[in-house]
Amino acid sequence: MSKTGYYGNWGGAFVPEILHETFRKLGVAFIEAKADPDFWPRYVELMGSYSCRPTPLTFAENLSRRFGGAKIFIKREDLNHTGAHKANNVMGQGLLVQRMGKTRVIAETGAGQHGVATATMAAKFGFDCTIYMGEEDVQRQRPNVFWMEKLGATVVPVASGSRTLKDAINEAFRDWVANMDCTHYVMGTVCGPHPFPEMVAWFQKIIGDEARRQILAIHGKLPARIYACVGGGSNAVGIFQGFLADNGVELAGVEAGGKGLASGLHAARLAGSDASPGVAQGYKTMFLQDEDGQMLDTHSVAAGLDYIGVSPILVDLWEQGRVRFSAATDDEVMAALQLTIRSEGIIPALESAHAFVQAFKEVGDLPPEEAIIINQSGRGDKDIFTIADAFSDPSWREFIRNKGEEYADGARQESD
Ligand SMILES: *Cc1c(COP(=O)(O)O)cnc(C)c1O
Repeated sequence: MSKTGYYGNWGGAFVPEILHETFRKLGVAFIEAKADPDFWPRYVELMGSYSCRPTPLTFAENLSRRFGGAKIFIKREDLNHTGAHKANNVMGQGLLVQRMGKTRVIAETGAGQHGVATATMAAKFGFDCTIYMGEEDVQRQRPNVFWMEKLGATVVPVASGSRTLKDAINEAFRDWVANMDCTHYVMGTVCGPHPFPEMVAWFQKIIGDEARRQILAIHGKLPARIYACVGGGSNAVGIFQGFLADNGVELAGVEAGGKGLASGLHAARLAGSDASPGVAQGYKTMFLQDEDGQMLDTHSVAAGLDYIGVSPILVDLWEQGRVRFSAATDDEVMAALQLTIRSEGIIPALESAHAFVQAFKEVGDLPPEEAIIINQSGRGDKDIFTIADAFSDPSWREFIRNKGEEYADGARQESD
């Protein structure tokens, strides 16, 4: 970083004056936590006892044989508590909130995964928790809303604007301004105003630290390439950090190609040509926006990759040529998912499957004495509705229809 909070020309902290002091205090608390020799070990201990860390590095023997190139290893972030790497970040921020003496956390969530992770953390630490969610997303993500509420969080549906993520972000900031003394805003990825990208990256580096140790122990040398999907960028930045100084290790980020880059229905910021520099949501990055700075509609089969911005840390690494980007389409993702499930008995999240697509395209180019690592950011159980639809499973459809009828009957009986 050159200027504080900047990565090359990207990042910064564009926040309302009233929050300056809150951000300053958060920055100080973070610096003190980093300097405290007990803090990181306490974090590692918590992740070990509550979230199955270190997560395994699995040799995908059947897939490796099939492609006949380098050995494929999978870093199993899906085995974290709540099913994804998001646990690393929220539990870390939970420790920081405890240290700051705050008692309440808020977050905004689109797909609901970050909301569930935050509500889980709040339950564990005994914090009050409010989650902001666009009204539209509340409708679409009922199972996640159900769990957030069961975990004790208040879920606030946001009815303004397009009733999706960006409106929820505005509401969450409004709440923070009103309650900043007792409340911490839990950022879900390596985006937003400084110090959030640096802080989230610091917690997520646990992935890269482990992966580097594990591949050296198992394979005896560094991998040729690392693949990670990129929504906001936190799982990618997490694993890449373990290998940034190893110039021989190629780092590949994979974005949501949706219906194809030419269709406009995608979320490819760095792999496509539709994004441009802008300042929004408190930071400077490459946004999918039109010439007037209006944010474009994005699309991906994977809700977690469906985002207009991208980490300033990754934009900088991309400009330096250290990380390269590509995009995987929805159709390619479904094919890679099916192959991985059948070959290895592992069910990647739709997000993670993007990384598998690019790895499968390229692994055959490398000799068998080399290795690659795919970061499996999460597990696919949460995607059962989308995956069953995509594979048009008729008995699943019937199951849903029967459930619907049961409820309709029940409602009729109740009102009789
Ligand atoms: C949220 C999520 C992502 C996208 O977030 P990043 O910050 O880009 O890592 C990717 N995979 C899974 C499983 C997720 O839940």
